[in-house]
Amino acid sequence: MQQKVSLQLLPPQLANAANIITAIAKATGKKESSITGFHIQKQSIDARGRTIWINCTVNAFIDEPFQQRVIHSFHFKEVGNANKKVIIIGAGPAGLFAALQLLELGIQPIILERGKDVRARRRDLAILNKEGIVNPDSNYCFGEGGAGTYSDGKLYTRSNKRGDIDRILNLFVHFGAEEKILYEAHPHIGTNKLPNIITAMREQLIASGAQFIFEKKVTDLVIDADKVMGIGTADGDFFKGDAVILATGHSARDIFELLHRKKITIEAKPFALGVRVEHPQMLIDQLQYHCTSRGEYLPPAAYSLVQQVNGRGVFSFCMCPGGIIAPAATSPGELVVNGWSPSKRNNPYANSGMVVQVEIADAASARKKNTQLSQDQADNPLQLMWFQQMVEQQCYTAGGGNFKAPAQRMVDFSERRLSTSLPTCSYQPGLTSVQLSEVLPDFVYDCLAKGFKVFGKKMKGYFSNEAIVVATESRTSSPIRIPRDINTLTHPQLINLYPCGEGAGYAGGIISAAMDGERIAKQIEKVIGTPKL
Ligand SMILES: Cc1cc2nc3c(=O)[nH]c(=O)nc-3n(C[C@H](O)[C@H](O)[C@H](O)COP(=O)(O)OP(=O)(O)OC[C@H]3O[C@@H](n4cnc5c(N)ncnc54)[C@H](O)[C@@H]3O)c2cc1C
Repeated sequence: MQQKVSLQLLPPQLANAANIITAIAKATGKKESSITGFHIQKQSIDARGRTIWINCTVNAFIDEPFQQRVIHSFHFKEVGNANKKVIIIGAGPAGLFAALQLLELGIQPIILERGKDVRARRRDLAILNKEGIVNPDSNYCFGEGGAGTYSDGKLYTRSNKRGDIDRILNLFVHFGAEEKILYEAHPHIGTNKLPNIITAMREQLIASGAQFIFEKKVTDLVIDADKVMGIGTADGDFFKGDAVILATGHSARDIFELLHRKKITIEAKPFALGVRVEHPQMLIDQLQYHCTSRGEYLPPAAYSLVQQVNGRGVFSFCMCPGGIIAPAATSPGELVVNGWSPSKRNNPYANSGMVVQVEIADAASARKKNTQLSQDQADNPLQLMWFQQMVEQQCYTAGGGNFKAPAQRMVDFSERRLSTSLPTCSYQPGLTSVQLSEVLPDFVYDCLAKGFKVFGKKMKGYFSNEAIVVATESRTSSPIRIPRDINTLTHPQLINLYPCGEGAGYAGGIISAAMDGERIAKQIEKVIGTPKL
């Protein structure tokens, strides 16, 4: 028989299958020899008390032969000759998972991506990190796999559509991710492993007859009445399809501008902006695990903090244990930071975005300090995008150029004191000691300065001058929403344009972007019908 068993284990116990069998035998009252094997179904760390426990649920095989875990299988159809074609703009998680879903439905995806493939893209990241030169089409946000490729690869989501989440996780495993992402409470792939997984997805798409074209920047939508007839690209090409999925991510400012210029409705959308904070990982381990050293069995510790300050949410975002702070700008002259970590999370730093909710009215009120936005701009749907860009430009200037980031020690930050020295930091292009209250919008600075102190009370030791504050974490989510009809999922003005993923405002992370891509693909199949193959 097979039996679900809940176990509470010490970290070293989990590292050894024989210990787990002993624990299963104890929990079920069966003999150890009758337990032929088990699969872990859920696993999480409970670090609330002095003793750290690993809680897990296992499926135990008792008095019957052990069987390997069943991984969901997928059937991708050959679509090279399909009579239905869908153009997908952008090969991020939304575009890629839409494309894979279209293959299953027998529809040919034509994927147009402004950036390069993962391998070529890696060279552009090295130039950005070492020489401070950004390629506007190939960077941490643009290129094969989108912002998801050189990301941390944390696969959590606030969505509760368990079936859909499991499907996405199984697809990741199908393309090479480790099975443990299927049961860990906080699954994580790591930047070193994501490129191979993304490459495997592309190889499947091409083998099944999809078109996948790199360095194809979409610059125009050709519209007739209420339909997009085709797509124009920067190099003068034109593509036609039965539907168009617009999955260009939150950093494709030229796409937002294009839509606005063509009078296709877009809306300003609240987002969050702030800084990235980095502590020594050992300090975070000590605080979270109540120990001097976490030892070999526990993973580097994470944290999640949230607080209302001055009536606004201040919260940690995209925490990367054992991670690196990366330059995530997409244009020269703008400074943006984000974080990633390798699968082993074995860097000596723990970083996290620490951001403040930005409302639509803030773009106008922030003019007091940052004078760039005129009244006309402040009434425009692009206003929060311009506000975001303005802060990024100020940070670039304050850092002194070449993507050196303005930074300050945490206590100095909250007490408006210029740091006389900065601790070592994972951010490769370098740092400049700056009074960040002079760079960030006042409301962002005030909320963060107070928020850090509150977080220091919640997590004693967090508020420390060992921690460094690096500006600016500004690409947390899209500052614009591209509206879509709740039933048809198309843009209200254009019957075959499907805004999709994070850039359109319908996702916030890899999993939710992937789920949105799948949802759009299924909807398109309902509209354009079952294709002839
Ligand atoms: C450093 C970093 C770390 C992150 N870590 C995590 C994490 O651990 N977990 C998590 O869930 N999320 C993480 N994220 C966020 C996550 O990557 C995004 O939420 C996700 O990638 C959004 O998917 P998307 O497909 O909607 O858009 P994107 O991934 O942004 O993809 C959009 C694609 O469109 C392309 N494109 C843009 N304009 C055009 C055009 N005009 N023509 C053709 N192509 C175009 C871009 O090149 C890009 O490939 C991280 C992001 C970064 C930058």
